[in-house]
Amino acid sequence: MATDILTGPTILGSTTRTKIFKNFIDGEWVESSTGETFENRNPADTREVVGIFQKSGKEDVDAAIAAAARAFAKWRLVPAPRRAEVVYKAAEMLIERKEEYSRDMTREMGKILKETRGDVQEAIDTAYYMAGEGRRLFGPTTPSELPNKFAMAVRQPLGVCAMITPWNFPMAIPSWKLLPAIVCGNTCVIKPAQDTPLSTFNLVRTLADAGIPRGVINIVSGFGSRIGAPLLEHPEVRAVSLTGSTEVGRIVGTTAAKSFKHCSLELGGKNPMIVLDDANLDLAIEGGLWGGFGTTGQRCTATSRIIVQKGVYNEFVERYVHRAQGLKVGNGLDENVDMGPAINEAQLKTDLSYVDIGKDEGAKLVCGGHRLNKGEYQNGWFMEPTVFVDVDPKMRIAQEEIFGPVVSIIPCDDLEDAIAIANNIEYGLSSSLYTKDVNKAFAAMRDLSAGITYINAPTIGAEVHLPFGGVKATGNGHREGGIGAIDFYSEWKSIYVDYSDRLQRAQIDRPE
Ligand code: NAD
Repeated sequence: MATDILTGPTILGSTTRTKIFKNFIDGEWVESSTGETFENRNPADTREVVGIFQKSGKEDVDAAIAAAARAFAKWRLVPAPRRAEVVYKAAEMLIERKEEYSRDMTREMGKILKETRGDVQEAIDTAYYMAGEGRRLFGPTTPSELPNKFAMAVRQPLGVCAMITPWNFPMAIPSWKLLPAIVCGNTCVIKPAQDTPLSTFNLVRTLADAGIPRGVINIVSGFGSRIGAPLLEHPEVRAVSLTGSTEVGRIVGTTAAKSFKHCSLELGGKNPMIVLDDANLDLAIEGGLWGGFGTTGQRCTATSRIIVQKGVYNEFVERYVHRAQGLKVGNGLDENVDMGPAINEAQLKTDLSYVDIGKDEGAKLVCGGHRLNKGEYQNGWFMEPTVFVDVDPKMRIAQEEIFGPVVSIIPCDDLEDAIAIANNIEYGLSSSLYTKDVNKAFAAMRDLSAGITYINAPTIGAEVHLPFGGVKATGNGHREGGIGAIDFYSEWKSIYVDYSDRLQRAQIDRPE
C-alpha cells in the first residue's frame, strides 16, 4: 500500500524522483478531484522539494467524510480492546520507523533531529497510552434511588471527527487527536498543515499498515482557506478539533457552534518563565535557552517571556545572552546544530518585523535580530537567536505571540509582581517558576493563570498522560492528552435497568 503513494514523475531540475503523495480516502491512496498539487519544501534548503501533495477541494472532503461515515457503522461495534490493539501495533511499527520519520520531519519542518525524534516518540507514547485506554474507557456505576434498579453511564463514540493541525508538531499533535478518537470508536478525517503534511502522512500510513479498517482514518491535504469550511460545516461531522492560531480558532469555533458540533480548540501562547533571586541560575539559564530557542521558538509553549527578579537580573541577562550568542544555527539534520530555520518566509518576516517593533517600542536588543542568509544559510529561512532586555510588560513584543526565536526579558520586584506580569496577558497556556523556596513554588502553582505550570523547568516539556491545554485565549476549555482526550472523543450515555417488574417513578415513588 505504501508504494502507491510514492509514485510520481521526475521533477525538472531535480536529480531524484520527487514523491507525490495522494490523499488517503476509504482505504485507498487517491488523487485530488481538483487535479491540483502543492510542493512541500525544506525550510533549511528551499531547493529541496520534500514531496508533492494534493491541493484538495470540497469534493475530496465530502468523499472522505462519506467514507468515514460508512466506516463508523462498523467501527463503533468493534470492541474497544480490539480497536486499541491496532493502535498498539502502530506504536511498535513507529518505533521501527522512528529514525526515518524523524529525518523526514526535520526535512519538512526544520527543527533539529533531537526534537523530531522527540516528536515521533510523543506519537509512540500516545499510542501506548491510548492502547491501554481500550481496556478501560471507564464510566461510573452507581446505586439507583429506587429498589431493583441498576444505574450506570457508558462512553459512546460521537461519529465522524474532523481534525485540523498545525506545522510545529506534525506527528505528535495529529496523534493526540487521531488515537484517542479511534480508540473511542470514532472515525476521522484529518487535514494536516500545508507546510508539514509528510509527517502526518507517515503516521496515517503506519496506522494503515497496522491494519486500521478502510474509512476509519482519512487524510486530505490542502489549504485551510479552501477545505476548512467544507470540513467544519458538513452535517455528518460531529466533532471538530483544531490546534492552531487564536485567529483561526475563532473561525473554527464560531463555525462549529452553528451546528452544535463538539469543538476543541488548542491555540496560541505567550508563556512566562519567572526566575527569583534564590533560583539555581545555571538551571534557569539552561531552561530558558531550551524553552526560548528550542523548535526555533515555534512552540505554543515556547518560553517567550523571562521575568527575572532584580537581585539576579544583571547576572542572568549577561550569562543568558552569552549562551544565546553561542547557539549554533543551521540545518537540523546536522547533529551539532542547536536551532533550525523558521518554517517559511512569512514566519521569518513576522519574526523580523517584531525585532523592529521591539526596537521602536524602546526595548534593548542585546542579541541577534538579523536574518542569516549568507553561505550555508543562503537557501533557508534562518535568523539569529534574538533577545530583548529591559522589556516593559505592556510592549507588543511582551504581549503578542511571535512564534519565533525572540525572547523578551522583563525585570520584576518580587514573586507577587512577577505573577501579576505573567498573568496580565490574553493567553494562558504554560508558565514556569525557578526558586528553591517551596512556599513560593506552591503559591505560584496556585496563582499562575495557565493550563500548565512547571517548577524549576522551562515552559516546555509536556508528557502525554497529563492534560494539555490552556486558559483564556489559548483555547475553549478542553484538554488534549490524558483522560481529557477520552472525554472529548466520547459522549456519556446514562443507562437505567429496572428489574422490579413494575413502574417505578424517579423522584415520585420514594421507598420507605
Ligand atoms: P494556523 O492557525 O495558521 O493553522 C492551523 C491549521 O488551520 C492549518 O492546518 C491551517 O491550514 C488551518 N486553517 C487555516 N485557516 C483555516 C480556516 N479558515 N478554516 C479552517 N482551517 C484553517 O496555525 P499554524 O501557523 O499552523 O500553527 C501555529 C499556531 O498554532 C500558533 O498560534 C501556536 O501557538 C498554535 N499551536 C497551539 C498549540 C496548543 O496546543 N495550544 C500547539 C501547537 C501550536
